[in-house]
Amino acid sequence: MSATAEHPEDALPACHVIPLGDWREHQASCACWCCPQQDDLEPGVWRHNAMDQRERYESGELRLQ
Ligand SMILES: [Zn+2]
Repeated sequence: MSATAEHPEDALPACHVIPLGDWREHQASCACWCCPQQDDLEPGVWRHNAMDQRERYESGELRLQ
């Protein structure tokens, strides 16, 4: 496995917040398939988006039936 930077931001120190046990494996990269968003309050912190949309349940946007 190589550590080649695929995204300009990857050259900077970054912390990736990756959902555990998601349907698809994430890369600790800003170029991950889920289009991670940099945290508004904490520069360098990248929040990955879970494929199962768990954030939308946590925020109350979606509810389990
Ligand atoms: Zn991701």
